[in-house]
Amino acid sequence: MRRIGIAGAGVLGRLLAYQLGQAGHQVTVFDPATGPQPPQVHAGAAPAPGYAAGFTAAGLLSPLAPLEFGNAQAAYMGWRGLALWRHICRTLPAATDGLPLMRQRGSVMVAHPSAPEAAALLLARWRNAQDITADWPAPRPMRGAALQALEPAVAEQLDGWLLAAEAQILPRETLHQLCLHAQGVDWRWGTAVRTIGVASIELTDGSRWRGDWAVDCRGAGASPDEPMHLVQGQALWLHAPGVKLARPLRQLHATLRLDLVPRPGGVFIVSAQHTPDHAGTQPLPDAAQLQALASALVPALADAQVKHLETNLRPARQAACPQIRITPGLLRITGLHHYGWLLAPTVVDEALPQLALLGR
Ligand SMILES: Cc1cc2nc3c(=O)[nH]c(=O)nc-3n(C[C@H](O)[C@H](O)[C@H](O)COP(=O)(O)OP(=O)(O)OC[C@H]3O[C@@H](n4cnc5c(N)ncnc54)[C@H](O)[C@@H]3O)c2cc1C
Repeated sequence: MRRIGIAGAGVLGRLLAYQLGQAGHQVTVFDPATGPQPPQVHAGAAPAPGYAAGFTAAGLLSPLAPLEFGNAQAAYMGWRGLALWRHICRTLPAATDGLPLMRQRGSVMVAHPSAPEAAALLLARWRNAQDITADWPAPRPMRGAALQALEPAVAEQLDGWLLAAEAQILPRETLHQLCLHAQGVDWRWGTAVRTIGVASIELTDGSRWRGDWAVDCRGAGASPDEPMHLVQGQALWLHAPGVKLARPLRQLHATLRLDLVPRPGGVFIVSAQHTPDHAGTQPLPDAAQLQALASALVPALADAQVKHLETNLRPARQAACPQIRITPGLLRITGLHHYGWLLAPTVVDEALPQLALLGR
């Protein structure tokens, strides 16, 4: 049994705490959030302290997506992440209303009519990465009528590919369940960390926690010395109870990637990000533009009610691959980028044995 202090109760921090607690370690987690649930969102406001990017995420689990960065390692970590999430979610109760935390019905990648080459390029990357993608089901072309038969709400005459193994997770519910069911974990809410050192965490009130291991999972809040940059992203919540989508859609525009993820209760999350070549060069679409993009893909969403728009920061590294740095007594994990939900279980799976085995 080791005493492990974790800075940050986002996706990584909670997953790590949950698994370390299950393994019988004594875990303390520090986070400035007021509690385990996300704070209330005020339109247009900057994220409150403690507002983990994990709450804002659309929840698409797409191992194909990191190949946009030409990053086969992240794609492979994502592929492993799917299996690990399946296992983790089996150990957790369903969300309060009985909904499964993870759903694996595939996703559909849709080409934008003005940029068919974007999908062709990504599929070529998938073929070229056969050393890691050999076990993946091949993307199944869904042209026009076939796509409509699969997802009747999608606009006519679009071309798509069914990515049969891809999945989605309910981010808020999963974060909550990880916290509720983490055995014996001491959650110190309202507690921000100033610095992290070997087996020691200094809090902003000047007090210090000491144990066997300190772990830095502060995401975008990590030390300014970390080799990462922050990429803004937003998620628009639309409410359209009459619209049915069985699985998430990802549309490839010339310079944008649009994710449209169905949630229970007639909610749809619309999230957009620039392609790696265009990141940071133009502003992201606002709420009206996001709704227009979503309704070009699913026309009935033009009449959806806008519930809210969330903005948050993704901790990114150039290569879109997380970095795990470990020295006895100190573990730092940074750069989960656009794919933190997808990659987190693999990162934790790689880090856990070292925490348990290595002593100070
Ligand atoms: C709009 C948007 C859409 C996304 N969609 C997806 C998606 O569909 N699929 C996917 O896989 N990923 C998605 N992501 C990415 C994913 O959410 C992130 O990669 C993931 O949340 C990173 O996890 P993390 O634990 O490193 O950071 P976070 O989840 O941000 O958690 C960091 C935690 O550290 C805490 N913290 C910060 N500073 C301190 C401090 N000083 N002391 C103590 N604690 C501190 C914060 O309060 C927070 O709780 C999306 C992100 C955004 C913004």
